[in-house]
Amino acid sequence: MFKRPPMEEPIARGNPPVVDRPSSEVLISLTGTPSAKPARRVERSASAIEAPPRRDTRPTRRRTPRDRDRDRSERESRQRPQHSRDDARDQRPRRRRERTEAPVYEPRPTPAPAPAIPTDLPEQASFGELTVSGAMGHALDRMGYSEPTPVQSQVVPLATQGLDVVGQAQTGTGKTAAFGIPIVELIDGESTQIQALVLTPTRELAMQVSDEVSTLGQFQGVRCLTVYGGQSMNVQLDGLRRRPQVVVATPGRLMDHMSRRTISLSDVRIVVLDEADQMLDIGFVDDIERILRATPSTRQTLLFSATMPGPIRRLARRYLRDPEWIRVGGDAEPVEQVDQLYYEVAAQDRQRALDGLLADHDHVTQALIFRRTKIGVDRLVYHLEREGFDAEAIHGDMTQAHRERVMRRFREKGLRVLVATNVAARGLDIPAVSHVINYDMPSNLEEYVHRIGRTARMGRPGTAITFVSDVLDFSTLDVIQEHVGGDLRQERLAFLYG
Ligand code: AMP
Repeated sequence: MFKRPPMEEPIARGNPPVVDRPSSEVLISLTGTPSAKPARRVERSASAIEAPPRRDTRPTRRRTPRDRDRDRSERESRQRPQHSRDDARDQRPRRRRERTEAPVYEPRPTPAPAPAIPTDLPEQASFGELTVSGAMGHALDRMGYSEPTPVQSQVVPLATQGLDVVGQAQTGTGKTAAFGIPIVELIDGESTQIQALVLTPTRELAMQVSDEVSTLGQFQGVRCLTVYGGQSMNVQLDGLRRRPQVVVATPGRLMDHMSRRTISLSDVRIVVLDEADQMLDIGFVDDIERILRATPSTRQTLLFSATMPGPIRRLARRYLRDPEWIRVGGDAEPVEQVDQLYYEVAAQDRQRALDGLLADHDHVTQALIFRRTKIGVDRLVYHLEREGFDAEAIHGDMTQAHRERVMRRFREKGLRVLVATNVAARGLDIPAVSHVINYDMPSNLEEYVHRIGRTARMGRPGTAITFVSDVLDFSTLDVIQEHVGGDLRQERLAFLYG
């Protein structure tokens, strides 16, 4: 049985104080934790649209021109569409939203009813050579996880003892459960505070991680909330009212909540940075540092990354306490089971080459095709649909609801061909993908490794095909081949070039 490390501070329980003041000023309650610090005073502002209507008890007075100006700007800001500074789908630098006034948010304490938890579970269970709680053992059983993967064998015991860990592991190795199991085992299921925070680079990955953590915690009543840009703030505020103990978030939207003071990280005890290299690539480094600084310095931090470039090492040295370094597989090492091949194809022949490959329904059961640009993705989907293939696009210009629908269809095998930009497909775990096709050459080795890692998941076979079309492609091919050696072999498109 894992021992829970002692908590640094007792977690405040009970409902938040409901603050009501008979003036134009109110005190902000964060997620309801009675704060030791004096609460900030703020003016009631129009952006408090999430707050329930409040009775105006202000004494009436003559309206001044300043009042009228303020009303006008409030009206305008209400009409403006709400943008999130969130995640990878839009990497344009945006001006940080200035917030001199925080909106008023009063969470309504409505904890969700606890799920039915079997009462006859043993106190402990075995997960291969690991010992987990009975409830966790039952969940793992239900998920079909009988043995820990190497990254789980290494990370789970360390993290469950409360140690900081840097894990170098790609997706597909089982790293989500490697941090998901300790999170579920360590959090206090009775508490109504956010105790664990997982940061991921993309919304799709956030949802995936959230699903896994919820499933791992299903018999311990763990409440997990996903927070990402593109989803309505109100939905997330409703989720926050259900008092999640675990939040899985993309950094941009989490920062939005922090500046709106709708999320407090002051009770967080475990922070996980998942796919840290991707988050840094996307430009989230400042946000990540800000988020880490908003959590207690006594927190436990777990960092996972497929590669360990300098900035990640620096981040680990700066924000982790004496971490254990775990490495599963080498630096940017492709998943071993992926059968890697490339075709030399003239740029103008690529569509026909792809059509020919996709015509082989027996082998290509589900394909994930990568293009460099959003417009390239849309054009290729248009072409494939005209050719009668069941294909859809996924990229950052699509609405969140649409992206989710497409991903669901693909995950449930209702869709055979998905054409994606890099960003949209990062870290995704879609077990049935039989083929990854680099229609456009990846721009570097890391990108290649991440892309081809979308197939051959958890020991399944998979093929990664790369089209090499121009001079630049050949120089990238050299770099990739230098790294993967003979594993990447050339084949000839006989149906095209005889
Ligand atoms: P991840 O690297 O976390 O994206 O996990 C990759 C896939 O492995 C997911 O489909 C998981 O459900 C699956 N998985 C993780 N751990 C195990 C395990 N111990 N046994 C079997 N499957 C696992």
